[in-house]
Amino acid sequence: MLRSTGDRVVIVGGGIAGALLAKTLENHADVVLIDPKEYFEIPWANLRAKVDPAAVERTVIPHSDYLTHAKVVTAFAVGVDDSVVLTSIGRAVAYDFLVIATGRTCNRPQKQSERLEMFQDDKERIDGARSVLIVGGGPIGVELAAEIVMKSPEKRVTLVHGAPRLLKVMGARASAKALEWLRSKNVTVLLDQTVDLASATPDTREFTTSAGQTVEADAHFVCTGRPVASGWLKGTLLGEHVDEEGHLRVDGNLRVGGLRNVFAVGDITDVPEAKQGHLAQRQAMVVSRNLRLLVKGATREEKLHRYKPSPRTSMTVTLGHRDALAELPFMTLIGHIPGAVKPRDHFITRTRRMMGIKSKPYGTMPHVM
Ligand SMILES: Cc1cc2nc3c(=O)[nH]c(=O)nc-3n(C[C@H](O)[C@H](O)[C@H](O)COP(=O)(O)OP(=O)(O)OC[C@H]3O[C@@H](n4cnc5c(N)ncnc54)[C@H](O)[C@@H]3O)c2cc1C
Repeated sequence: MLRSTGDRVVIVGGGIAGALLAKTLENHADVVLIDPKEYFEIPWANLRAKVDPAAVERTVIPHSDYLTHAKVVTAFAVGVDDSVVLTSIGRAVAYDFLVIATGRTCNRPQKQSERLEMFQDDKERIDGARSVLIVGGGPIGVELAAEIVMKSPEKRVTLVHGAPRLLKVMGARASAKALEWLRSKNVTVLLDQTVDLASATPDTREFTTSAGQTVEADAHFVCTGRPVASGWLKGTLLGEHVDEEGHLRVDGNLRVGGLRNVFAVGDITDVPEAKQGHLAQRQAMVVSRNLRLLVKGATREEKLHRYKPSPRTSMTVTLGHRDALAELPFMTLIGHIPGAVKPRDHFITRTRRMMGIKSKPYGTMPHVM
């Protein structure tokens, strides 16, 4: 049996999943969103934004632009017990229902203007560099290398990757095609090598790989994986439900540790599927529906929606404005054809529409100064 206690829903983390959850619940419950940033960010255009500032402003959206009723607490959550979330500004936020959506760790500034400046700085670093080093050959490193060489083919780009093949989230055929495509664009790809960046500063120009190879680069970008942001749960009520990779164990309703009123969504969960933004959004919608039922006083477990993990059927990596690499169930394609299928604006307009934000068409925004 379920029992409704109240309608205070606290969502920790204002990323892809948490922000959508707050938006879809704010007219149905008393929602508080806890996030250290004053904005929500659409990550899929991050890399384009480094070379094309016209894409930037539409992807960094103040929480106040899409939330009308929900309250926002700008702080890190630092602890949780069975009724309250503790925050880094000393405020305790009481909940009847709690959703953990803290995704992956990343250091982002608190203000939208500072985030936009970061993009502009990255763009200036790339513009001013004749050579660029990218460390990490997952989707982010590969997409960034592609963005740079497609916009500025004269730049010398070196991609260093610590594994024998690029894009381990995709199959071997996709890895081989990506490698061939990058090399055809004169990107130097060094596989099975790492770069120790511990002592590197923005002024470092010479790097040595683990194989002793020297790479000269005017600018460098680290595109290696980020850990799951579950460290703050250590020693709390939920700590015992964090697995060895840092993911929160959830059940079929996306609830944590059998607790009736605690859910988790997005990259932080241990749901056996790819960690992708569109799947984080699907999870958020399932929890949103369940919370609407619960705050209305649903009393039967069977009424709650279950989340069905998505079998990985396809994945696309964008390669600049024109090309893409698409891994489909029965084939892997690279070039203009998959590039034509992926929207030119990286799904920004669609994501903004989901959040109830009206959009100007892609490319009409002023450049960030
Ligand atoms: C460059 C890039 C490109 C991508 N491209 C795609 C793509 O094309 N398609 C796709 O489907 N997926 C893509 N992804 C993956 C996708 O972005 C993630 O799967 C998605 O962001 C996960 O959403 P989330 O809400 O779980 O976590 P996140 O989006 O990581 O959000 C987590 C939020 O929690 C907050 N937070 C963290 N710690 C705390 C704390 N202690 N207290 C309070 N708040 C906290 C953070 O500030 C952040 O707002 C991409 C990712 C990146 C980085």
